[in-house]
Amino acid sequence: MRRFDYLRPKSLKEALQLKKTIAGAKYISGGTDLIVQIKNRELQPTTLISLRSIPELARIEINGGARIGALATISDLIQHIELGHNYPVLIAAAKRLGSLQIRNVATTGGNLCNCSPSADMALPLLVLEAKVRLQSAKASREIPLSEFFKGPGKSCLSSDEIMTDILLEPPSQKTKATFLKKGRVKMDLAIASLALLVEIEGGRCRKARIAAGSVASMPLRLFDVEALLEGSTISKDSVSKAQQLARDTVSPITDLRATEEYRRHVVGVYMKRGLEKVFG
Ligand SMILES: Cc1cc2nc3c(=O)[nH]c(=O)nc-3n(C[C@H](O)[C@H](O)[C@H](O)COP(=O)(O)OP(=O)(O)OC[C@H]3O[C@@H](n4cnc5c(N)ncnc54)[C@H](O)[C@@H]3O)c2cc1C
Repeated sequence: MRRFDYLRPKSLKEALQLKKTIAGAKYISGGTDLIVQIKNRELQPTTLISLRSIPELARIEINGGARIGALATISDLIQHIELGHNYPVLIAAAKRLGSLQIRNVATTGGNLCNCSPSADMALPLLVLEAKVRLQSAKASREIPLSEFFKGPGKSCLSSDEIMTDILLEPPSQKTKATFLKKGRVKMDLAIASLALLVEIEGGRCRKARIAAGSVASMPLRLFDVEALLEGSTISKDSVSKAQQLARDTVSPITDLRATEEYRRHVVGVYMKRGLEKVFG
């Protein structure tokens, strides 16, 4: 591993300033993705700027909705009682991420900024229609998470920006949601995963939000399947159509974890299982 400097700024302003002045610097949060990439020589930063000593980045606030600091660890989410009560699907996904040791250091923002197609936290946040706040030295902007991912390892985050917050709307009593993940073993990256959120009124699906992981070049909202379900009554026929459309919409690859065909199959099965679960 090449040598690098390690800096621990105490404020957001200082972190942004350091990044501007040091060529080849990279931000680090928990390091559970970044250090692996450095060890594998996929990255060779001159300097790591740690975001872990900036207290406001790790705060979780419930304010009707929720503001989750990007540096909140996965364990912080799991231990936050109100957050779990308001957004159980988020905690269901958090509990499936890595091991206890990983969850204690891995951060929510790091999971999103790493932009892996298998990022577990991306799916519940996509169906909850989260927004992310990105801060540069000059400006702050808020964008829907569905517009954040651009491809494997790619997002609309510029190199001079820090993800500071993840923002959630107030929870709705009318919605039900679920998260399903298939790994080779219990503690593994997803072969395929699915988050599903629906609002049901008089037996009809009024709103559907669906996201799938490890089945495209980035965590994917299944907009076509959502449109198919919205306004329909849930029957064997509509479940079967949604299942087929979900299989056709995704574009998985074959790699050492699973074949393309198996991933499509799992997405179809999870579509059916998820609908059965939320519609009882
Ligand atoms: C053994 C093991 C098991 C794992 N299992 C899973 C799993 O089951 N599911 C899963 O989804 N992931 C898993 N991971 C991957 C990893 O733990 C998560 O993606 C984690 O959430 C990354 O967060 P981090 O804080 O460690 O990010 P880091 O490694 O610190 O950073 C990741 C990337 O994001 C950038 N970054 C980090 N924070 C910010 C920020 N606030 N603003 C701007 N850029 C930022 C960094 O520059 C870097 O490019 C696993 C990793 C390991 C090593």
